[in-house]
Amino acid sequence: MTVDIALQEQLKALDIQILELLNQRARVIAQLPPCSAGQWDSYIVELQQTNTGTLSNEAVKRIWQSLNSNMVNTDDSERAHYLYEKSPNKWRTIVDLPNSASIGAGNFQIIAGPCAVESYEQLDAMAQVLSSYGVKILRGMAFKPRTSPYDFQGLGEEGLAIARQVADKYNMVLVSEILDASQIPMMYDYVDIFWVGSRNMHNSFLLRAVGEIDKPVILKRGFGATMKEWLMASEYILLGGNEDVILIERGIRTFNDWTRATLDISAVPLVKQHSHLPIVVDISHSAGRPDIATGLTAAAIASGADGLMVEVHPNPKQALSDAQQQLTPEQFADVVQTVARFQREPIAQL
Ligand code: PEP
Ligand code: MN
Repeated sequence: MTVDIALQEQLKALDIQILELLNQRARVIAQLPPCSAGQWDSYIVELQQTNTGTLSNEAVKRIWQSLNSNMVNTDDSERAHYLYEKSPNKWRTIVDLPNSASIGAGNFQIIAGPCAVESYEQLDAMAQVLSSYGVKILRGMAFKPRTSPYDFQGLGEEGLAIARQVADKYNMVLVSEILDASQIPMMYDYVDIFWVGSRNMHNSFLLRAVGEIDKPVILKRGFGATMKEWLMASEYILLGGNEDVILIERGIRTFNDWTRATLDISAVPLVKQHSHLPIVVDISHSAGRPDIATGLTAAAIASGADGLMVEVHPNPKQALSDAQQQLTPEQFADVVQTVARFQREPIAQL
């Protein structure tokens, strides 16, 4: 009986020491950048190699695996650093693009094109107009995530081939939406920038997959996502090693029904305050209408955004998707004029 009590006291004293060590450990971890599951597994193997005690290596593995899950789930206030956050070493990400354009370098970049590739003639006509205005980044959407399965779903790979041909003809960078990680090998040679749409922002499997490729990724905000959820989605991509992430604010759902969504313009200065990632404003899916495009363009510039994204169609009334919101070439000319009128020196970074 006496022996048992002595052992129990010994156990408690050891546990108190372990607890203190775990607290010290948590403080160290909070200062480190997150590591990938693979890095953590190698770390555990290194620990097992130093194990000379009573515990089996399997037990060591189980214990440190559970410590890792604690680390990942650690309270926000304990994690000092996320990869998307500004730090003295990483104040601003500049995404360099193949045709020597860039996003995030202080210039206001326009990404434009129709909602979807419908034919060679349609995209060619559009790209000709856009490139005559100096647009360098072309939308070439071939897979459309539509609300109704009966609506136009995009031309698929044929649409990508058209888009590549047209982009090359006008020396434009091609962006196109990816819906599933399995499409990466097929899409890789066609596109310059992979585009993760609003509906896929929560698809962590896709985010991890595009985090492993060596091409830039545009990440749209989910229409029901908080700032934190959106930035954590970018963390998935950055964690895979892909540093070229561009955020797009595309409007969130509110009770307002005069616009398709509500452009959350405050997202721009908030991203600039918290993150080094560039941010672009989608004036099409946020508004859902063409008649307020110039006002939203001015707002995007004033907010400090790195650019805007807009849908333009040679004949919007005939468009196979988003007919109600695409700009005519004439309306696009007004947007370009607005950019020229309001663009000032790059807004000082917060
Ligand atoms: C798009 O930009 O092509 C699109 C489908 O928009 P969202 O994902 O924001 O709805
Ligand atoms: Mn659209």
